[in-house]
Amino acid sequence: MPEVTIYTRKYCGFCGQAKALLLSKGVAFEEIAVDGAPDLELEMRQRSGGRKTAPQIFIDGTGIGGYDDLRALDRDGKLDPLLGLSDRREADESRGAEMIESVIILGSGSAGLTAAIYTARANLQPLVVEGRAAGGQLTMTTEVENFPGFPTGILGPELIGQMRAQAQRFGARFVTGDATAADLKTSPLSLTIDGETYRTRSLIVATGADARLLGLESERKLIGHGVSTCATCDGFFFKGKEILVVGGGDSAMEEAVFLTKFASKVSVIHRRDKLRASKIMQEKAFKNPKISFVWDSVIEEIWDPARGKVERAVLRNLKTGAISEVRCDGVFVAIGHVPNSRIFREQLEMDANGYLVTLGGTSTSVPGVFAAGDVADHVYRQAITAAGTGCMAALDAERFLERSAH
Ligand code: NAP
Repeated sequence: MPEVTIYTRKYCGFCGQAKALLLSKGVAFEEIAVDGAPDLELEMRQRSGGRKTAPQIFIDGTGIGGYDDLRALDRDGKLDPLLGLSDRREADESRGAEMIESVIILGSGSAGLTAAIYTARANLQPLVVEGRAAGGQLTMTTEVENFPGFPTGILGPELIGQMRAQAQRFGARFVTGDATAADLKTSPLSLTIDGETYRTRSLIVATGADARLLGLESERKLIGHGVSTCATCDGFFFKGKEILVVGGGDSAMEEAVFLTKFASKVSVIHRRDKLRASKIMQEKAFKNPKISFVWDSVIEEIWDPARGKVERAVLRNLKTGAISEVRCDGVFVAIGHVPNSRIFREQLEMDANGYLVTLGGTSTSVPGVFAAGDVADHVYRQAITAAGTGCMAALDAERFLERSAH
């Protein structure tokens, strides 16, 4: 095995993703945390030709760059040879043209990987399709403190890496690619993954949902450094701080109320002068003394990406055009989620927001197709509930396959 070294910083989403990718391949690495250690920071810069950003990854002493570079090598099939592993796409290549899978799992977050563990243990040899954002939302979080079984917490990417290793141990196979089309009217079901057709007798859709973002460059740079899309995940880090919450729906109200447990002050920034949230959620927010509202306003800019932390935000009043600045330590964006269900439009029943509708257990409107995790859940959206429905989908798929074999 080659020697792998990775320089990391605290609360660095891409560091977590890089570690998750390496862990998922069963590769051990030495982690060098550079926070508060100027000598190590200098060493990282010197070894990487002056790069200041983390992670910086080295394989047998050769710098390969950051997470994007690692991922690009993996996508091009060049990473496994560098790591001394046999070809990761083995599963893909060994498929005969006529091969029909028992179960394909779309998605490799906590729902997909739990479904993989269960179906693999049931000897169904599941094929897990990992999309571009392999590992799901947990790979974008830092410390996970509410997943049962980890009393001192666990890093999101590590949790995902462990789940993946567990699924592999029981024989789950993985392919990297994005599903771009599906035909669920045929039997077996048919999927197009990176231009190739896959056929399967059952399908578990665990493609998750992406938090909608404002689309600001500063927001992108500060995700994980004061900008967050999940109060349950990150609220704890804002004890005694001042926070902005963007949005006027149920999610924004729920997050604002939850955040008052930690923050000294929460200001809700909403683009209109009326909330979209349900009456009960509105009332909860209005009567909370720590919450105030800034109406008819949007965030134009978040400072300071150069300092790697949130210090203030620039607001614009949409009615008057007035620009103002507000001091804050964190920005929680709660303007909704977009379930990754696009390829199933017209084929699977979904609600007005695109969430898949499940009918008893995890069954969807097409026999043999099951849904798990956030793609079918806009209410709970937790790693543990996604894992729970992933388990349910696996059992439902197993029973479906048993029934259809007779
Ligand atoms: P939502 O209801 O779609 O609300 C999104 C909010 O964000 C709206 O107020 C919207 O403003 C605002 N917004 C959207 N895009 C924006 C942008 N680019 N810039 C600024 N503001 C923007 O989403 P949600 O709150 O996540 O709720 C989704 C679904 O889950 C809803 O059906 C909700 O009831 C449900 N939910 C339920 C619970 C619960 O029951 N406990 C909790 C959370 C969510 P406008 O109002 O101007 O459109």
